Amino acid sequence: MLNIVLFGPPGAGKGTQSELLIKKYQLTHISTGDLFRKNMSENTELGLKARSYIDAGNLVPDEVVIGMVESKIKESGDVKGFILDGFPRTVAQAKALDVVMTKIGHPISAMLSLEVADDELRARLTERAKTSGRADDQDPEKINNRIRVYYSETQPVISFYEAQGKHKAIKGLGDIQGIHGLICSEIDQL
Ligand code: ADP
Repeated sequence: MLNIVLFGPPGAGKGTQSELLIKKYQLTHISTGDLFRKNMSENTELGLKARSYIDAGNLVPDEVVIGMVESKIKESGDVKGFILDGFPRTVAQAKALDVVMTKIGHPISAMLSLEVADDELRARLTERAKTSGRADDQDPEKINNRIRVYYSETQPVISFYEAQGKHKAIKGLGDIQGIHGLICSEIDQL
């Protein structure tokens, strides 16, 4: 199985690149942001739990996210591999993911980390706000909070995968197809 963690700060292009990778490698997409937004639009119990955190640009508590991803992986059955987009976002989530993948006998193959400077992230999120309809994109203070949370809680996940020799840095600036090419060349070397 090819199991990829696609990692990066908010606005780095994880969603866009995931779409291209799913088509090329026939992977099953698990985007925690998309799953939360679907649950929020359907007003499920999970959606109601997550909304206040997401709208403020904070992380949803680990136990809520981990439970959601675990059930998604377990219910997927026989697949070629997973692309995890927006997860893990804390070291506790990364550890929990390792436990699940070990249990199913298919560890994470690589963690591909999109690197984009903060000014560019702010510009992309502000632009996305015009069409995304996402409450967390609308307010510059919420955008700044998400970037702050990325540095304090999410960036440490890089060292976790570095220690396993699985971290690959990808320059996330440039055109979409060019970045896709860089990601594919990392995957094709696995
Ligand atoms: P972005 O990468 O643009 O911030 P996402 O769609 O990945 O957007 O996530 C949107 C929001 O959903 C996050 O700001 C956070 O509140 C919540 N979220 C998504 N994934 C996780 C996660 N793994 N852990 C905690 N919260 C999460």
